[in-house]
Amino acid sequence: MTVKAILLRKGGDVVTIAPTVQLADAVKLLAERRIGAIVVTGPADRVAGILSERDIVRVLAERGPAVLDEQVGSIMTRNVVTCTSAETVTDIMERMTAHRFRHLPVVEQNTLIGIISIGDVVKRRVEEIEGESNALREYIATA
Ligand code: AMP
Repeated sequence: MTVKAILLRKGGDVVTIAPTVQLADAVKLLAERRIGAIVVTGPADRVAGILSERDIVRVLAERGPAVLDEQVGSIMTRNVVTCTSAETVTDIMERMTAHRFRHLPVVEQNTLIGIISIGDVVKRRVEEIEGESNALREYIATA
């Protein structure tokens, strides 16, 4: 299964935020949208960074609640690892495991077209495995 197939089913909606927004507002957005990460976009909607709930927990522990007044741009991770829609679920599972993160923005020709989370990957893999198992059962029953 490819990233494109996952996006066709879940849609290409990506929650984005500007780097100048206050961290407190990013926290509200994460809670409202029930998501674990927001893609930070700069001029021309290019990916400028990613802000995950883990970043927020880390800065709160290091700097205390005053950090909520700071701008997202000073807290986000800048070197964002992305994937393309032609890649397979196996490719992106390997990348997430190697880098130890749970979100991969999907970028085509510098344009953000979606985001895949570890939750999306696990859901699709479970569906695939169930499909294979059902096919095997049917084969055995009719053989
Ligand atoms: P996560 O496990 O995705 O919540 O993120 C754990 C850490 O990795 C946080 O510091 C994130 O900012 C960072 N991170 C998450 N996704 C990516 C990504 N695609 N590229 C680079 N860093 C990321």
